[in-house]
Amino acid sequence: MNAFFLILCPSLKEGLYFVMIIVFRMLVIKREVCGYCGACVSVCPEGALELVDTYLTVDPETCIECGICARICPLGALELKNAE
Ligand code: SF4
Ligand code: SF4
Repeated sequence: MNAFFLILCPSLKEGLYFVMIIVFRMLVIKREVCGYCGACVSVCPEGALELVDTYLTVDPETCIECGICARICPLGALELKNAE
């Protein structure tokens, strides 16, 4: 998901502004690092990862960017990054 929003919300009282920043993240797969063990596929609660032979993919529509897969990857091949 690629988006960055800065929302200024004027308060009805006292002329204050509340700033809400929403940063979308995305899962990045470092395929040159991946060892194709399949551990990330097993722990993904959304079934967003698929490993076919030696090709790991993530469905960005299904991924909720929870980071579980990145935390358990033994090779550090997955990283959640802020979308640019
Ligand atoms: S856990 Fe890491 S090394 Fe294993 S398949 Fe997933 S990304 Fe690759
Ligand atoms: S970040 Fe969460 S939802 Fe997305 S692929 Fe990893 S474990 Fe699945």
